[in-house]
Amino acid sequence: MPSYNEQTTVTVLGLGPMGRALSGAFLEAGLRTTVWNRTPGKDRELVEKGAVGAPSPEAAVAASGLTVVCVVNYDAADTIVRRDPVTAALKGRTVVNLTADTPERAREAASWAAEHGIGYLDGAIMTPASTIGTPDAVFLHSGPEALYREHRPVLDVLGGTHTHLGEDIGRAAAYDIALLDIFWTAMTGYAHALAVARAEGITARELAPFAKGIGQILPPIFEKEAEEADSGRFSGEGNPLTSAASSMAHIIQASEAHGVDAGVMRAAEGLARRAIGQGHGTNGFIRITELLNRSSTLSRSAL
Ligand code: NDP
Repeated sequence: MPSYNEQTTVTVLGLGPMGRALSGAFLEAGLRTTVWNRTPGKDRELVEKGAVGAPSPEAAVAASGLTVVCVVNYDAADTIVRRDPVTAALKGRTVVNLTADTPERAREAASWAAEHGIGYLDGAIMTPASTIGTPDAVFLHSGPEALYREHRPVLDVLGGTHTHLGEDIGRAAAYDIALLDIFWTAMTGYAHALAVARAEGITARELAPFAKGIGQILPPIFEKEAEEADSGRFSGEGNPLTSAASSMAHIIQASEAHGVDAGVMRAAEGLARRAIGQGHGTNGFIRITELLNRSSTLSRSAL
């Protein structure tokens, strides 16, 4: 049984689509929910459902032991919470920051919170606002485990799965960045595929069933490549880098013949060719991870 009751209070700062979804789930579960948003009026529906619309962020955070922050980025979050009256009102309370940003920003925010006697957890939401309150929602958390355990019953109200990734406060943001990296490069690939297909007279609708098929072959490949990336043994059996580079070259040729920008594919092909040039042509594609890490080590040591 969750250890919260009708006296349990929670505050949400930020009422974009995600903040509204989070607040709605808290209200639905019967928690006393206080909300605030920079632009007034976005709390109307929530207030109609029983939320308390606070007149200021300091009044909002003073209403609850736990404040969930969910705004566009950490610059926005800082603008709200790093004002003296808000910081003072947060002393002795806990912030769960579900705003997406970089691991560095999360670590810096945690230092600020520690300096001001504020409990601090960072989190990342990996699914759309429509999943909040349903079993499909996915939350990643990082920061002090005891604090996470204390607030987990309230966080559970948001539905889905919650995973605590460790005490390093930057870890949730690091997973978020890595997972969004997959998402946005895949979406860029899809957008490019649609452009090439359109240039060949194929509509997005016509391509869609087959595009879904490509999406479905990826999960087992991710599992296999994860093992290779962690072990450092890159079996190219069945699909060596040389074959990947050749396939990419066809995409570049077909795109550029239609005047479709192939910059993203050129970058990928360039990485494959570099790895081949280093003698790894018989390795599998994920070998380029080594190349990328080596490039980052070199560029760091050149600083
Ligand atoms: P946005 O990312 O567009 O953020 C909107 C919120 O940020 C509003 O409350 C807005 O206030 C506030 N905001 C923006 N700039 C400032 C500022 N300078 N000062 C104060 N507040 C500011 O909308 P979402 O709600 O969708 O996203 C919130 C977070 O959730 C983001 O970090 C996003 O990456 C993450 N997320 C969202 C998902 C989604 O499906 N929407 C999915 C997974 C994660 P105002 O109304 O005044 O402009």
